[in-house]
Amino acid sequence: MLSRRNFIKLAGSSAGLLIASCEIKQLKTSASAHVVIIGGGFGGATVAKYIRKLDKTIQVTLIEPNTHYTSCPGSNWVLGGLKKVTSLNFNYKSLSSHYDVNLIYNKVTSINTNKRIVTLLDRQKIRYDKLIVSPGIDFRWDTIEGHNESTTNIIPHAWKAGVQTTLLANQLKAMDDGGTVVICTPPNPYKCPPGPYERASMIAHYLKNHKPKSKILILDPKSHFSKQNLFIEGWKKHYGFGDNNSMIEWLSIPDNPVIKIDVKNKIVETDFGDKYKADVLNYIPAQKAAHIAEESGLCDQSGWCPVTHNSSESTLHSDIHIIGDASKYSPLPKSAFAANSEAKVCAFAIVNILNEQEIISPTWINTCYSLITKSHGISVAMVYKLNKNGKLNKVEGAGGVTQNTDDKSLSLEANYSRQWFKNITKDSFS
Ligand SMILES: Cc1cc2nc3c(=O)[nH]c(=O)nc-3n(C[C@H](O)[C@H](O)[C@H](O)COP(=O)(O)OP(=O)(O)OC[C@H]3O[C@@H](n4cnc5c(N)ncnc54)[C@H](O)[C@@H]3O)c2cc1C
Repeated sequence: MLSRRNFIKLAGSSAGLLIASCEIKQLKTSASAHVVIIGGGFGGATVAKYIRKLDKTIQVTLIEPNTHYTSCPGSNWVLGGLKKVTSLNFNYKSLSSHYDVNLIYNKVTSINTNKRIVTLLDRQKIRYDKLIVSPGIDFRWDTIEGHNESTTNIIPHAWKAGVQTTLLANQLKAMDDGGTVVICTPPNPYKCPPGPYERASMIAHYLKNHKPKSKILILDPKSHFSKQNLFIEGWKKHYGFGDNNSMIEWLSIPDNPVIKIDVKNKIVETDFGDKYKADVLNYIPAQKAAHIAEESGLCDQSGWCPVTHNSSESTLHSDIHIIGDASKYSPLPKSAFAANSEAKVCAFAIVNILNEQEIISPTWINTCYSLITKSHGISVAMVYKLNKNGKLNKVEGAGGVTQNTDDKSLSLEANYSRQWFKNITKDSFS
């Protein structure tokens, strides 16, 4: 007999169907609904757990290609020498053993929205009553000349954590003192708005301790960035910014973005032909919803997936709910905190829909912490609600950025940041 804990080839639905190798087989009969989730990141893992917590009669199957997840939050700290890359890894065992979530380690290659079937890489087919899509982002390689996925082993983006994080960390270690690190940040929208600036801070932290004559140049296609004043204040205090001895320089080039890379020589070229030579080049590409969302017709022209916010249901296909980075949840940022919050709202909505109950009017929360040094943290927080017209809005008077900038308060923020990492990964993966 197949155990739900074992990796299945199992998938129940209200019709109780397992479809394998293009063949539809009856596995078990169940009156319960079958929710299938694509992607075991912060969004997918959280929604799997919370649906099972809310209603144990609903069968939940999580499909994810990797047996462990490597967290992007915390990955900049690895570059600063504050964390080991292995400490970013989380597995799905607890979702299976504590919450009886069916796990399938595989990749979804297509979604048949009419028949409500997903197909996996091995051609296995799984039927769903409700599908939740949380596959994260992919990169827009069409906005850059000379560089693509195949050259990321030379010019790492490190915007998906793991091998790429280690590669960038090793390049920094191999760089001579006095070298230049160029960070090319992406245009909006992208995952983790403060991420590139925390990265600059963490690289500066490493360089200050090991290669103090080195420089960091941030080439930015934006005129403003998240927590800008707090970052700049921190950079001035710890690394030098805005004078001749600065370790960090920020160059805003909205009208003259980077369009070309000479990978071999690590030279970036802008639209006006300006060239910048790097010793270590960290190019973070422009982004869009992950391939599976795009291929399945879940994205609009923006490259992201439009949803009705109170249920996260796709506005383009019924019975498909999209959460996390791939979805359009603005003004919520694309963050792990937001993905976790969207996942909980989505779990409540799906349980209510399946139980023929009204969907509640939800509230979403986000906080983004960043470290400037080990003991200098900053944050931005916000609460979001739907207004009378069903539009997602910031709640007036809620949230804000770090107010107290004395050393004790900033050190507390750094501790909150580390504590937040422990809490969110526990909430999502165990
Ligand atoms: C450097 C960096 C630092 C960050 N720091 C923070 C931070 O401090 N705080 C914060 O809140 N956020 C942070 N973020 C943002 C955060 O990582 C993302 O917003 C969050 O991971 C989004 O969760 P998600 O579930 O939408 O996508 P992801 O976490 O990316 O998960 C997507 C999952 O879907 C799977 N998948 C993709 N396609 C398929 C398919 N076809 N079939 C099956 N599975 C598939 C992938 O394998 C992956 O496991 C950071 C990001 C970066 C890059």
